[in-house]
Amino acid sequence: MTEANLTHPVKRSIAQEAEKLSGEISGINRAIFDKPEVCYQETFAAALLQEKLVAEGFSVKSPVAGLPTAFVATRKGSGAKGASAKAPTVALIAEYDALPQIGHACGHSLIAATAFAAAAAIVRAAPDFPGTLQVIGTPAEEGGGGKVRMIEAGVFRNVDAAIMTHPSNKTRVVARMFAVTELFFTFTGKAAHAAAFPYKGVNALDAGVLFYNAVSSMRQQLKEEARVHGIFTHGGDAPNIIPEKVEMAFYIRALDREYFQEVIARVRQCAQGAAKSAGCKVSIKQRGMVYDPFYPSYPMGQAFRANMAAINAPEDDFSETEEIGSSDIGNLSQVVPSLHPEYAIGGREDINHSRNFLEAVISKKGHAAALAMTKAMAMTVYDLLTDPQLMAETRRAFKKTK
Ligand SMILES: [Zn+2]
Ligand SMILES: [Zn+2]
Repeated sequence: MTEANLTHPVKRSIAQEAEKLSGEISGINRAIFDKPEVCYQETFAAALLQEKLVAEGFSVKSPVAGLPTAFVATRKGSGAKGASAKAPTVALIAEYDALPQIGHACGHSLIAATAFAAAAAIVRAAPDFPGTLQVIGTPAEEGGGGKVRMIEAGVFRNVDAAIMTHPSNKTRVVARMFAVTELFFTFTGKAAHAAAFPYKGVNALDAGVLFYNAVSSMRQQLKEEARVHGIFTHGGDAPNIIPEKVEMAFYIRALDREYFQEVIARVRQCAQGAAKSAGCKVSIKQRGMVYDPFYPSYPMGQAFRANMAAINAPEDDFSETEEIGSSDIGNLSQVVPSLHPEYAIGGREDINHSRNFLEAVISKKGHAAALAMTKAMAMTVYDLLTDPQLMAETRRAFKKTK
């Protein structure tokens, strides 16, 4: 044990219970890792977690939001009876979907294991907490937007704070994340023999190339906090036919909701201008689901940092906006105060979605880091359940960002 600074007696026993759950963490991680299930097909992982949570005295509801692999596990603390009606509900978020082909190269198997272990450590060490503890199983983070559908169905309506930790190439408690959406462009021209009658054609590929270059030029005028990147998905049918249909797909990301809309509008303009130049038509479709920007809860982050310090778990020195991605936790952070610390499970070069990362997910270093995060997460949830001042500050900060 490295909890030298851990003087709080209850938190000390929470950390000790987490330590005892070390074998469970590696067991759950390994089981889910060995049976990767993609987007909305996570039946094995969801069932495994539910079974483990029932054994810890949670009552489980599944499916929720019409999603067979989503669940809500709930356990009220025995201190809830005497507590005020305002005793909070705090949720640990579990993800467990894998990536196509490469499997658990984002480490969601560890997210599942640590969410369970943090919940179990709390109910074993401090079952008399006031309020309600939930573990919410959210499928399909990798592109399927499970949380978005669960938010729309009202699953998080009574949740006062939500927390999860995510494996990474660095340890950082507070980070922001991009909003992201996908746009699909279809440029339509007119086919013609490219040698005999080129003047009878309308070249949709010209429009596509102009559009690509217009975006490239525009990128120089964007704020640092935006990203636009895309590809050609259909570029023509044969070299001797003037291309009549060209299709492209672009991702657009930004840190701020308003700027996000502005960048989307500018990209659309680039496409319309390019179509006009080439004499083509363009149709633009936006993917139905948008991932919102992630706004971290700073009071929760402070509590988490204090708990990391108490167990001597160091944090890396990174700005909030360095090396960031997008996640459906962004949408959750818009409706519930949320925290999403990340933690290094390998070296700096071992980045998410890579083969190296896949190895790190089941490495010794990965396990030790996940165990430390389990402790810090459990202690932070305990803080939120038992410290009305922290919960009040968390609510206040959340209102301010709205
Ligand atoms: Zn990922
Ligand atoms: Zn991930």
